[in-house]
Amino acid sequence: MKPAPFQWHAPETIEEALALKAEHGDAARFLAGGQSLVPAMNFRVAQPAVLVDLARVLALDHLEFSADGTLAIGAMTRYRRIERDAAVTRRQPLLAEALAQVAHPQIRTRGTLGGNLAHADPASEMPAVMLALQASFVLRSRNGSRIVVAEDFFVGPLATVLNEEEMLVEIQVPPLPPGSGTAFLEVARRRGDYAMMGVAAVLRRGADGRCAAARIALCSAGPTPMLAVRAAQGLVGTGLTVADGAAAAELATREIEPMGSVQASPAYQRHLAGVLVRRALAVAAERAAA
Ligand SMILES: Cc1cc2nc3c(=O)[nH]c(=O)nc-3n(C[C@H](O)[C@H](O)[C@H](O)COP(=O)(O)OP(=O)(O)OC[C@H]3O[C@@H](n4cnc5c(N)ncnc54)[C@H](O)[C@@H]3O)c2cc1C
Repeated sequence: MKPAPFQWHAPETIEEALALKAEHGDAARFLAGGQSLVPAMNFRVAQPAVLVDLARVLALDHLEFSADGTLAIGAMTRYRRIERDAAVTRRQPLLAEALAQVAHPQIRTRGTLGGNLAHADPASEMPAVMLALQASFVLRSRNGSRIVVAEDFFVGPLATVLNEEEMLVEIQVPPLPPGSGTAFLEVARRRGDYAMMGVAAVLRRGADGRCAAARIALCSAGPTPMLAVRAAQGLVGTGLTVADGAAAAELATREIEPMGSVQASPAYQRHLAGVLVRRALAVAAERAAA
């Protein structure tokens, strides 16, 4: 199908884009990479009267590490740029590892991190990765800006705390402390498909080699990306043995709320979560030791 008629605006600054959004409110949508919004418009699931295309807003396309090691990523930064950045691969390997499993290279060339997070698909990899990495998001409107931690940003399937005038402007990822190891694993029907279950694990070993901190986040595991809080807490102080990982995986399967899909029942998703959490913890533990 073809989309319903719409007006198209192509501002060149954040201020112009925010003014357009404020003027048109809910009738307007920001257009980022278009890899979710345009198919939805073609199916007429979404019928925005106005598109505010962010492609020419160069201030939204950046990727840089600050002096304290925080990685700042502009909302319009394409997946492919992040995935291929040598410093990201070295300093935030979880991002590159998970991005390689998002859709196909063609889609990653157009799709943006900001568009992905604002879309808030609970099956999507990057929202879970953001929870695991304790990222924060800078939201801006004409009235000012605010910073929201990833855990508070996602409120339901395709729903976030963004209000009708706000734009996601920047993603901020804190540095991984020394002794950290990360891993992302998923199971999808075919490479490039959304995951039936995906797990992002971040571990840190202390000087004694024992687990000093842990974060486990899952996609396709509930109405939002899910954190397995009790499973992660249970790992702290352990030696991160195979048995420790298995115990955490068992706990994680009880913390998630898989909703099922045409591809996988909730019971199967829970089974996948158990297997993937165990394996992701083993990989992250080994990397943390290296
Ligand atoms: C065949 C196919 C397979 C795919 N497989 C996967 C997959 O495996 N995993 C996965 O995660 N995704 C997958 N996707 C979706 C893809 O990752 C999209 O790129 C992503 O969901 C949206 O990013 P975008 O930049 O294309 O945003 P758009 O489609 O342009 O926008 C998405 C939504 O976010 C809003 N928005 C965009 N930017 C902002 C902003 N800065 N502030 C506020 N709101 C904003 C838009 O108004 C819209 O509502 C797939 C897509 C296709 C077509």
